[in-house]
Amino acid sequence: MAAQLMSGKDTAAAVKADLDREIEDLKERGIMPRLDIIRVGSKPEDLAYERGARKRFEKLGIALDVTELPEDVTQEEFEDTLQTANRDPLIHGILIFRPLPGNIDEERIAGLIAPEKDVDCMSPVNIAKVMTGETGFAPCTAEAAIEIGERNGIDFDGKNVTVIGRSMVVGRPLSMMLLQKNATVTVCHSHSKDIVASCRTADVVISAAGRIGLVTADMVKDGACVIDVGINAGPDGQLKGDVDFEAVSEKAAMITPVPGGVGGVTTSILARHVVLAAGTLGAE
Ligand code: NAD
Repeated sequence: MAAQLMSGKDTAAAVKADLDREIEDLKERGIMPRLDIIRVGSKPEDLAYERGARKRFEKLGIALDVTELPEDVTQEEFEDTLQTANRDPLIHGILIFRPLPGNIDEERIAGLIAPEKDVDCMSPVNIAKVMTGETGFAPCTAEAAIEIGERNGIDFDGKNVTVIGRSMVVGRPLSMMLLQKNATVTVCHSHSKDIVASCRTADVVISAAGRIGLVTADMVKDGACVIDVGINAGPDGQLKGDVDFEAVSEKAAMITPVPGGVGGVTTSILARHVVLAAGTLGAE
């Protein structure tokens, strides 16, 4: 059986169609949604994400500014920059690229970002909301994994879902969000004894481990859905997911490719969060 492809491009287009109307409404009210990215230095992965976000935001008509700080920025300078963005009424969303340099107290910064502008869930306030199921801003990648599944017809209610990975940006919040959707969630990580068994019983496998080829065909039951969050640089420089795509496609009912899957949806979710923030803050 050849699995149906869950396309990031189609999912992003569907999110865009919803956002177009909302952005038009905002602009009619005189509100121009705006994101400020705070970037320290110029790491290639930060620049790549920034380029993707810029392209997406240009198409949507959302403003994007980047505040670039030097590698040797001090805690005080960083906090001043953040507080300026926190206070600026024309900025609705703030995204800080992490990890921050070792001399910056990241936990303190997380506590300082205004929760209502914290569009990628850095603040403990938004993390708590993911735990309780209240409306806040979930991490964009975790939300993108759910979005691509749901837009392709997966109803998580009552399903056995195995999540591989327990990081604060993907695996952990994702498992909480799936619980909120009434899934039965198993979370595997690098200390799990039998990941194969946990995956074999799953209706949906979501891998966010960052390990090329971790999910093989023998781990997936016939007709399961497989969502690959992994974005890993292969030996030939090509981007690879965590899933052995060719072999798993023969068993799964639905699968996301890498590239072209979850990664392409993340900036759409970021845009949605900025639009939501603009709707709330702009009305004040
Ligand atoms: P991380 O290194 O912080 O966490 C990886 C998690 O996977 C850990 O909890 C670890 O216990 C688990 N893990 C590692 N090896 C394992 C193994 N062999 N078996 C079982 N569990 C294992 O990584 P992260 O930041 O959560 O990112 C995970 C993947 O998702 C990476 O490939 C990353 O590039 C990708 N990612 C994609 C996006 C996007 O789509 N925009 C965003 C963030 C991360």
